[in-house]
Amino acid sequence: MMKLFKSLRIRILIFALLSGIIPIVIIHLLVISTYESRLIEQREIDILQRLSVIAQQLGEQESLTASLTEDKIETLNWYANAYGGRLLAVDDNCRIIHDTYLMDLNRICISDAVFSALSGNNYQNYRSSEDLLEFVLPVYAENSEEPTVTGVLIMSSDTSWLKGSVSSVSTGMLLAEGIILILLVLVAVYVSYLLVRPINAVSMEIDRLNEGNINVELGDLESYKEIDSIMKNAERMVDHYRDLEESQELFVSNVSHELRTPMTSIRVLADSLKGQDNIPEAMYQEILTDISDEVERESTIIDDLLSMVRLGNGSDSMNISSVNINEFILDTLRRIRPIAEEQKIELIYESFRQVTAEIDEPKLSQAVTNLIENAVKYNKPGGFVKVSIDADHAYFYLKVSDNGIGIPHDALDHVFERFYRVDKARSRETGGTGLGLSIARTIILQHYGVIKAESEEGEGTTFTVRIPLKHIMETGGRS
Ligand code: ADP
Repeated sequence: MMKLFKSLRIRILIFALLSGIIPIVIIHLLVISTYESRLIEQREIDILQRLSVIAQQLGEQESLTASLTEDKIETLNWYANAYGGRLLAVDDNCRIIHDTYLMDLNRICISDAVFSALSGNNYQNYRSSEDLLEFVLPVYAENSEEPTVTGVLIMSSDTSWLKGSVSSVSTGMLLAEGIILILLVLVAVYVSYLLVRPINAVSMEIDRLNEGNINVELGDLESYKEIDSIMKNAERMVDHYRDLEESQELFVSNVSHELRTPMTSIRVLADSLKGQDNIPEAMYQEILTDISDEVERESTIIDDLLSMVRLGNGSDSMNISSVNINEFILDTLRRIRPIAEEQKIELIYESFRQVTAEIDEPKLSQAVTNLIENAVKYNKPGGFVKVSIDADHAYFYLKVSDNGIGIPHDALDHVFERFYRVDKARSRETGGTGLGLSIARTIILQHYGVIKAESEEGEGTTFTVRIPLKHIMETGGRS
């Protein structure tokens, strides 16, 4: 029941019906009560006029008894009959001298209204519960000098006929109201359908989206301004979803390509051994070493892929601690030094101040190692790699610069993309997967940091990293 009331269509329907029914009921009650009181008023005036004429005629003699001749009595009877009532004539001693019902003749009639009428006051009253109109009227002697009351006329008239008259009007009205109500229901049902239609259309389109139909065109629906803005947002979401789908497809095809390359090499190498007799020991050794290198390469790609996937889906929560950044960089340099020496590259460490920051040490170490290793890999013999540390009140800055081969301008924007390599052959030689910078950037973003690359082809490259000293806690409890 509650669920039904939550439906917008039902609410519009109820609202439309109520806004029709309430005025109809009010108007009905008002019309009926006005009609009823108008009828009573009319009847009162009518009876009072006639009664006054009779009272006047009965004032011809000094006493009411004397005035009440046969023909007057007949008039009284006729009149009482005509108005569906009873007429009493009471003399100035409160004795009933005529009763059209003949029931209370000669009885004494004592009531406030009679006393009041004997002193010259009119009295009239409508008792709706008893369907009765009552009049008490004084009869004045016509010929006396001073106004003298000779008696009282009491008239009670039945008004039950009124009920029938009112109910026939009420029935007529109810019939009209019923027709109006039926029309109202039909209009309300149609209008509520029209109003809710765009919302239902949107909901259907979104359902189709949920079913996996990502090619649904959301912009085509004709609807309200408010829904339009919801749809625009949904469309942006769908576009994003499509991009994601596309990039995922691209990613999968890149991954298979990358994984296949070392496999192909292994196969070619193995095939070269197959079917050949008497291979010299040296050559045999050489091919096996190459195969081993390719296996190594394959496992590096898989390692990089795994760490990228782990970073991407957030399954690896951040493990934040306060770390001395100077020590942290010196440690990293110490690990890379043997490779650098092998390549005859000088490693320079430069620190402008002591810095402590809240970081995920293993993760940031992976990112920084990658930057420094790249600077060594894409260098020239005799070149240098300089790592410098600086900080202000909110951030620390890490600069890794080299005087190596540099990156062409048009490639600079792409180096953070997955699998992007400027020179595929050189990257392959050095065991690169094209994932290092993408991973580094993700890690730095997870620290709410930024990374920028500047380079001049043939002259060298500088990567600048900026990371907040205090880690920003994510809402939701993950750090
Ligand atoms: P890779 O595993 O190939 O090194 P990265 O994502 O680490 O992948 O780097 C992407 C590409 O950016 C590299 O292939 C290389 O062409 C270029 N690159 C990265 N660092 C440097 C650098 N210090 N000097 C010149 N080129 C660089």
